[in-house]
This record gives sequence, structure tokens and C-alpha cells, in this order.
Amino acid sequence: MSVLTSEAVVLRTWPVHEADLIVSFFTRDYGRLKGVAKSALRSRKRFGGALEPMTVTRAWFAERPRQELVRLDQLEIVRSPLSTPVDHARMAVLSFFAEVLDEALPERDPQETVFRLLLAVLEQTTVEQPWMPLTYFSLWMTRLMGLLPDIGHCTACGEALEAGQTNFNSLGDGLFCSLHRNGNASELSADSWQLAQRMLRAPAANFAGEPWPRRRGQDLRRFTLQALERHLERKLKSAEALGRL
Ligand SMILES: [Zn+2]
Repeated sequence: MSVLTSEAVVLRTWPVHEADLIVSFFTRDYGRLKGVAKSALRSRKRFGGALEPMTVTRAWFAERPRQELVRLDQLEIVRSPLSTPVDHARMAVLSFFAEVLDEALPERDPQETVFRLLLAVLEQTTVEQPWMPLTYFSLWMTRLMGLLPDIGHCTACGEALEAGQTNFNSLGDGLFCSLHRNGNASELSADSWQLAQRMLRAPAANFAGEPWPRRRGQDLRRFTLQALERHLERKLKSAEALGRL
């Protein structure tokens, strides 16, 4: 049984048996894996604070014959989300990243682009600025999951869209012109439409210097959340928590 190692981000843990934890973690080299952390509850020292969701780690683990779960041997913290200040908004945004990835990523399927997206938004998610990385992550996850048709054109007729005349509805992916919006469609503001186009062309760090009150990009986040929840076929708990903030 060979021990494998990879950069990895912890997504979620839950207790099993007496003192063990099951850990869902996203490795750069092997994709999302589930593993058993033996005695993690008994011996805090062994994994330290590394099991906190959204901790960037170096992980060591081993496949077990005829077992779906790998054996998680060691996690070494590279970057803990708790090493910088936390508040409700920042924690809620980090929980959203974790829940979306845990739900959306297939197991054992490396996703280098998603991994890089995650590292980039983790870097940017601060108490001062939770909304920009949340918006960036939601938009890009929608794109990387194949749920975002060309936002420059109407999904129904292919006409070029114009700022202030772009709409999204709860039933179909993409944006629609005024003619093809359906009864319960919402308008995507000109600002958010232009912002989305910029975000799809530039790294997250480029947006860090801009002012980001909570309301900025709110309709864009609603649009992307609708697409994610429609695809996952469930409501995301962390999105509800974000909505209550
Ligand atoms: Zn149209």
C-alpha cells in the first residue's frame, strides 16, 4: 500500500465510529477524495487545526484494498483560514466554497482549474472584502461546470445582448434578450453584466482594489446561484446563511 501525497483543501468532516472522522478533501493531483482520519477526535495533536474546512494543506494518504475511503495519514497546514481575522460574513463565504465544491466535484477526478480558482479566492476572502471573491467564485464555478453559455448573446435566439437589456430566469441557463425573457425573469443590471464579462477575462486579484459593498454584484450572485442550485438539484444551506447576513 503506497502512501500518496498532494496539495489539498479540506471541504468537510463528519464523525464516524467512536473517535474517527470522515474527511472530504479536494486534492490537486487526484481530485476530490473521501478518507478516514483515524482517532482524529481522540488525538487532537495528530491533525491539529488542519481539519478546519478550507484549510490549505499538504496531505498524505493511502488507498485501501477494496475500500472506497482512503486512509488519511497526515495533514500539514500550508494556510489556515483561521490565521487571518474572521467574522460571520467571511465564515459564511468560506462555507459556501466548501459546500459547492463538496456537492459539485466528482470523486477521483482531478480539476486543476477549479483548484487554482479556489486558491485564488481563498487568498482574497477577507473580513474587509468577502463579496468580491464570493461573486468571482460563483461566476467561475458556473462557467467551469458548463452552466454558463456565452453571456454576450441571448441563449434562445443568439442576438447580441446590450447592457441593461439582459435577463435571467429560474428555468434555463444563460441570459436572454427582452423578447425571450419569460414571465418570472429578473434583469441583470448593466453594471453586473459588464462586471461578469470582466471577471471571465481577468484573475480575481485584479478586482481586489475596487470598492465592494454587499449590494455590488448581488443580482449576478443570484443568477449564478440559481444555475448552481438547479444543476445540483438542491438548495445550498450556506447560501441561505449568506442571505440572512
Ligand atoms: Zn433572444
